[in-house]
Amino acid sequence: MTAVMHPQGDHKRSTSIARLHTLKQRLHDAGAAPLHAQRILRAWSHALPLESGRRRPSTFFPAALRANVPTIQAELGALARVHTVHPGADGSERLVVALGDGHMVESVLLPRGGLCVSSQVGCAVGCQFCMTGRDGLLRQVGSAEIIAQLSLARARRPVRRVVFMGMGEPAHNLDNVFEAIDFLGTVGGVGHKNIVFSTVGDPRAFERLHDATVKPALALSLHTTRADLRRSLLPRAPDLTPQALVDEAERYAQASGYPVQYQWTLLEGVNDSAEEVDGLVRLLAGKRGILNLIPFNTLDDSPFQRPTWARCQALARTLHERGILTKLRDSAGQDVDGGCGQLRARAIRIAPA
Ligand code: SF4
Repeated sequence: MTAVMHPQGDHKRSTSIARLHTLKQRLHDAGAAPLHAQRILRAWSHALPLESGRRRPSTFFPAALRANVPTIQAELGALARVHTVHPGADGSERLVVALGDGHMVESVLLPRGGLCVSSQVGCAVGCQFCMTGRDGLLRQVGSAEIIAQLSLARARRPVRRVVFMGMGEPAHNLDNVFEAIDFLGTVGGVGHKNIVFSTVGDPRAFERLHDATVKPALALSLHTTRADLRRSLLPRAPDLTPQALVDEAERYAQASGYPVQYQWTLLEGVNDSAEEVDGLVRLLAGKRGILNLIPFNTLDDSPFQRPTWARCQALARTLHERGILTKLRDSAGQDVDGGCGQLRARAIRIAPA
């Protein structure tokens, strides 16, 4: 088995990135029968050792495979490693993770057993308020690299919930993301409703969700009820109206039985108006969903501002009183400059990827 390496920034070669089915083939080539491969991958994704410790999956391997275990472990370890750790006062822990080729992504260990993973290096959607979108898309994150983020996180603390809300737009990397979701919901031991697929809204993603065997919960980044404002805030998102997005999300909520999480980054003077509150009531009343208001993480050179906490609380209260189930959230790691992509940007300034 050889390490999976890629030229930096060459996202056109995304077929060669580290994928789970390639990994399974390599395990097969190293002498692992399907059951053995499953044991190896389960141990890896749960951060359990193959050769020592209580469960020791390698005890029952044939001798030829046992001889390959150190190489297999080295290869799995080479997929990703923790570059730096940034603990937050809220119990979260942001990890800057270096992939095998030196590209960096962020994973966030959330309080209460959650993990936020990255699905791309950079992102093509270019949301005006997001640091990750500034570089464009550098490359896809392979399904095996997504599970490697889980393995690194579980080496630090238990993980029972995985959300695809880190760097990247999961709808732009559907094959890898759904391969990882399938793994998470089976070998990875994460309950299906504890896997959250997050998207700005893309017809291909809605289609895949309906066809998926392991059905994750859905988070939809809405941010505004105005089609014109959405076009300028999310310039390269598919041009679907907020009404069409909510209709699609509601269809999935009814089919899956899981409420949709509507994500709303609160930007002062941009999408915190009474008009938006009216629009939200019109769009979401009676829908199977929860509105998450997330005050913007202020960036030094951003034109956007974070509304005051009192303003955010007042908005949440008004929406709640008008029948919209609303939660006011602070993005984890706020106190360590931890908005999406901010740590990676800083890590790259210190040590170029
Ligand atoms: Fe991409 Fe998400 Fe950032 Fe938008 S907010 S640019 S979709 S990573």
